[in-house]
Amino acid sequence: MKVTVLVGGVGGARFLQGVRELLGHTPFPEVLASGRAPADHEVTAIVNVGDDAWMHGVRICPDLDTCMYTLGDGIDTERGWGRRGETWHAKEELAAYGADPDWFGLGDRDLATHLIRTQMLDAGYRLSDVTAALCRRWDPGVRLLPATDDRHETHVVVTKDEDEKVAIHFQEWWVRHRAQIPTHGFAQVGSDDAKAAPGVLDAIAEADIVLLAPSNPVVSVGAILSVPGIRGALRTTAAPVVGISPIIGTSPLRGMADECLSVIGVETSPEGVGRHYGARSGNGILDGWLIAQGDTADIPGVTVASVPLLMSNPETTAQMVRDACDLVGVAHG
Ligand code: GDP
Ligand code: CA
Repeated sequence: MKVTVLVGGVGGARFLQGVRELLGHTPFPEVLASGRAPADHEVTAIVNVGDDAWMHGVRICPDLDTCMYTLGDGIDTERGWGRRGETWHAKEELAAYGADPDWFGLGDRDLATHLIRTQMLDAGYRLSDVTAALCRRWDPGVRLLPATDDRHETHVVVTKDEDEKVAIHFQEWWVRHRAQIPTHGFAQVGSDDAKAAPGVLDAIAEADIVLLAPSNPVVSVGAILSVPGIRGALRTTAAPVVGISPIIGTSPLRGMADECLSVIGVETSPEGVGRHYGARSGNGILDGWLIAQGDTADIPGVTVASVPLLMSNPETTAQMVRDACDLVGVAHG
């Protein structure tokens, strides 16, 4: 069985733990190609790169790293991002020099990942190659693909002092301003003709089921969908596409999805987000939409079911994946 999942950071990584729990470990492609018995199932995650940024000369890929560290058992589970056992000496030293930005949490252990990534990018490797190389250490058991190898960063149009509208990087909006600043919209910045990374469109086209993790619908899933070609691939794949609501009741479980949704004029509710994604039979991308027990949603053209949606541990999350398969009649063994 081939399962392809669109994911952001924390919500996406936890969801992938459930997919892996249900379907088992996906080995590296070379292992698959080496003639050894292939795994019964293959899981591919298409990961948001809209949060990526240059800080202090290194390339940071927060969602890719959150997925890699979570699945590789290196994550700080309390914070939900970054390395367990992290120290912050480099950050303190940078602050002592007055180096900008001073608001970004750059941990010492994490820094090693960024240094290797930056060296490889400088040497001409693509982000997808770099990610595969980093994953050799972490062995996430899921194929992690950046949505694109091209620069495709989310920037946010805000009003700063003096009523002046400016675009700032998503990280500055999220981490520095905690989204508490007058905000007018989001834009992807970088290459005008960003292309999906190698393997991404095939993973959607050849899947038995495509899942949208309960990730932020705007700056995680939305940013992935804005990479040219990806939305079209979701609309034309023979596989059913099922989304899982990140909103339970009227609020996101963690993070600031409500701030993002209100900026684009979408109601923070399972119905609001489901309608925003829309039905494939219309102009949208969904066949099925899982919402939490006790919630209701009427989305024309989309099959909706309410099931437990709290990702308390990989076992309960695996049940969400079974429920998603059952919703559209895909066997999960
Ligand atoms: P980020 O990139 O680290 O912000 O993470 P994501 O975009 O992948 O996920 C953030 C979203 O995950 C938030 O909107 C949360 O509402 C959602 N989320 C977190 N935990 C849970 C959970 O247990 N169940 C569900 N349904 N959604 C969750
Ligand atoms: Ca993110």
